[in-house]
Amino acid sequence: MPNPQTRVVVLAGGVGGSKFTLGVRAALRRLGAPEATVVVNTGDDLWLSGVRLQPDVDSITYALAGVNDTVRGWGRAGDTERVNEELQAWGAGWPWFTLGDLDLGTHLARTGWLREGLTPTEVLGRMAERWPLGIRLLPMTDSEVDTHVHVEDGRRLHFQEWWTRYRAALVPTRFENPGILDATPAPGVVEAIARADVVLLAPSNPVVSIGPILAVPGVRAALRSTAARVVGVSPIIGGRVVRGMADVCLTAIGVETSAAAVARHYGARSADGVLDAWLLAEEDAAAASEVQAAGIRVLVAPLWMRDEDASAAIAEAALGA
Ligand code: GDP
Ligand code: CA
Repeated sequence: MPNPQTRVVVLAGGVGGSKFTLGVRAALRRLGAPEATVVVNTGDDLWLSGVRLQPDVDSITYALAGVNDTVRGWGRAGDTERVNEELQAWGAGWPWFTLGDLDLGTHLARTGWLREGLTPTEVLGRMAERWPLGIRLLPMTDSEVDTHVHVEDGRRLHFQEWWTRYRAALVPTRFENPGILDATPAPGVVEAIARADVVLLAPSNPVVSIGPILAVPGVRAALRSTAARVVGVSPIIGGRVVRGMADVCLTAIGVETSAAAVARHYGARSADGVLDAWLLAEEDAAAASEVQAAGIRVLVAPLWMRDEDASAAIAEAALGA
């Protein structure tokens, strides 16, 4: 059972990751436990119009600071697009990719700090001076890692072009993270995993959010050797992705869109995977035996992250697993 000393690490992507992280923060505050360390995917990061964008970092930062646009699902609440119109008039950037004015303020601040020589980890520390998030946010790596998508017609697209411009409608054949084999985990990532009592895999996209984190050399080994329990939360409910296009990503890597198949994809630590336990949605309870047969303990719970309370209940279930 979790206690007030429980040290928690979360691996997370953007939208699913931020909803889950809100719940983890609430659950740990109730326990009086230390702030969680959240290791966020930076595989979607990119340079655009001269500034560094970190979509998953910003989704989590904005959500925890309470300044996110909950209706649109991304960016800042109440943002405007004046600078974006001007960039479009110059033919700069991507016509299908909107940069909000307030959001651009974040990107400019970040880019300035990076240019002054701060590492991405240090930049996140700097951002937390303005908005204490109630968690410790770490990038998976300080190296620049991309996500490229190879599609059926032979083209290779940047992940953002495939996702945002084509809405994942071009059939992917392969995902690639150029640079990842030379990346090292950001300072503190391996140490946090080693010292944790519980490591949680957020219900994020297994392929393009959790996948790149696990692919940073050293992260998987840290998960396999930690004394912490490693507990995953299913991003699949009732055999479907909740929101977004994770099913297309799963199909491309040969994994069925089902909660059991994703659990088997992560694998049991007792075999050569990373999981001790898996939180399965009530709708998928029938898949429990299949997951258990793979050597992974199963807990069944409601997994809809409707609001912060619902996410906190999921986090509590995962912490107690
Ligand atoms: P992205 O980086 O912004 O694409 O976001 P993530 O990778 O963190 O999260 C996307 C995943 O979150 C999708 O695969 C969804 O299935 C999952 N997801 C979104 N909302 C919920 C929810 O309420 N419950 C659960 N269990 N999963 C969710
Ligand atoms: Ca993402």
